[in-house]
Amino acid sequence: MRTQRQVVDYSLQKRSVLRDVHNGRIGTLEVCDASPYLKSAARFHGEPTDERCPICRRDNLTLVHYIYGDELKQSAGQARKLAELPILAMTLREFQVFVVEVCQTCAWNHLIEQFVLGRDALSADELDQAEALAAAAAGRHRETGSSSQRREGRR
Ligand SMILES: [Zn+2]
Repeated sequence: MRTQRQVVDYSLQKRSVLRDVHNGRIGTLEVCDASPYLKSAARFHGEPTDERCPICRRDNLTLVHYIYGDELKQSAGQARKLAELPILAMTLREFQVFVVEVCQTCAWNHLIEQFVLGRDALSADELDQAEALAAAAAGRHRETGSSSQRREGRR
């Protein structure tokens, strides 16, 4: 996604947890502890992958995207479908996304990535396109004059 920034990758932590599981230092019960909420988020909002679960190897992993940020108000902390994120990124200035991988079979779960999305990352030209997209996504029309005026005021 174009406005993606401040990416934090947790693959090293994940690898070290898996190493500890494979050499018996951590029990699988400790890492296969996805809550009912996380499992239902995976079922209803998850993004399927081709990657096999590293613990049970019976199911493919599902990615769940959680969103956080003041602008989200009551939606903060909710899981969203991946396809909804670009639309939110054109509408909101800034919000955090946490990506968690989940196995719906054995309940393995791990945070794999976090990043920031939102239109604050866009240049002035991109912002015009973003506003058009956001307006289209919201299903309403807007005169072209008002958007450039609003941009002037933000600076
Ligand atoms: Zn599994």
